[in-house]
Amino acid sequence: MSFYNEYLKYKGLNLDDVFKRANDNDVRRVLAKDSLEWEDFLILLSPVATKHLEEMAQRANKETIQNFGRVIFLYAPLYLSDHCVNQCAYCGFNVKNKFKRKKLNIEEIRREGEAIAKKGIKHLLILTGESRKHSPVSYIKEAVEALKDYFSSIDIEIYPLYKGEYEELIEAGVDGLTIYQEVYNEEIYDQVHITGPKKDYRYRLDAPERGAKAGMRRINIGPLFGLDDWRKEAFFSAIHTQYLQKNYLDLELALSLPRLRPHLGSFQPKSIVSDRDLVQIILAYRLFLPRVGISLSTREGENLRDNLLPLGITKLSAESSTAVGGYTQKDSTDQFAISDGRSLKEIKKLLLEKGYQPILQDWHRI
Ligand code: SF4
Repeated sequence: MSFYNEYLKYKGLNLDDVFKRANDNDVRRVLAKDSLEWEDFLILLSPVATKHLEEMAQRANKETIQNFGRVIFLYAPLYLSDHCVNQCAYCGFNVKNKFKRKKLNIEEIRREGEAIAKKGIKHLLILTGESRKHSPVSYIKEAVEALKDYFSSIDIEIYPLYKGEYEELIEAGVDGLTIYQEVYNEEIYDQVHITGPKKDYRYRLDAPERGAKAGMRRINIGPLFGLDDWRKEAFFSAIHTQYLQKNYLDLELALSLPRLRPHLGSFQPKSIVSDRDLVQIILAYRLFLPRVGISLSTREGENLRDNLLPLGITKLSAESSTAVGGYTQKDSTDQFAISDGRSLKEIKKLLLEKGYQPILQDWHRI
């Protein structure tokens, strides 16, 4: 059993034709239904649905409050290392980009963790560039063991692992996994992942499922919007999430919506995802998968993040640094530019003003 078989089934459909043929009546019919099938989700992603964003937004807001309440979960990322052996055409950490790479030692990791914890953050996402050589599982395990005293919950966003390695990290204190397929279109995947182990499409595609089998409590997936037609990428990422939801009933699932940002290098996105497109994706996700979390990082600007909140967002990163050592040192290179630079205090205040409860801890490790 693997999501790849489902991917192949949907890949054979002419999605462009479905998007082109959808009409206003189709959208109205879908919005009148209680629960949506994948065919309905395609209608909500179609160009004609942009005329119905207001109705979609009202229902999305209702569904979000019904399933999650008026709460937003807050977390912060911690970059441990920017060494990477892959050549991804779209990323500033790409092995071909020459800059001084950095890897934190355990003492530095502890200091970064302390600095983040002092702000009040309890949920940490630790990240590395993808290099087994520079950031072996033993190093990540040591980092988790050093950080678990400061945080009630630790997620990882690292290279894909085997099931046994995920189990090892869960044993050390990890409880969540974030892994982005980047692009579901297999042919584009091959083109933009020029060299390195990341070229293996299927090994990456099956990583969330290996994590689920290993016992991860929470899994966050998503595409990197901009690498292919965003409508198709939104479709495949949601179908992937639904597959995990159906097969791993206890799993807490979330989708992220990273868009390509300016970085060191000159990659041009194939598909530009406008703010309006992003709104449509969030609404369509929420209506198709009402119980799945939707996470928004500080890649997006302040105003946009504030305005997107009522549409279905359940999780925000706050006061983030995307540089290795970025919380305590000042000489690192950011993986991507941060657009929302507000402090945790400011974000908490804003959420309360808008009637949301900021949640810093929803899990306690025993
Ligand atoms: S996207 Fe990840 S794997 Fe690719 S170059 Fe950047 S850090 Fe490395």
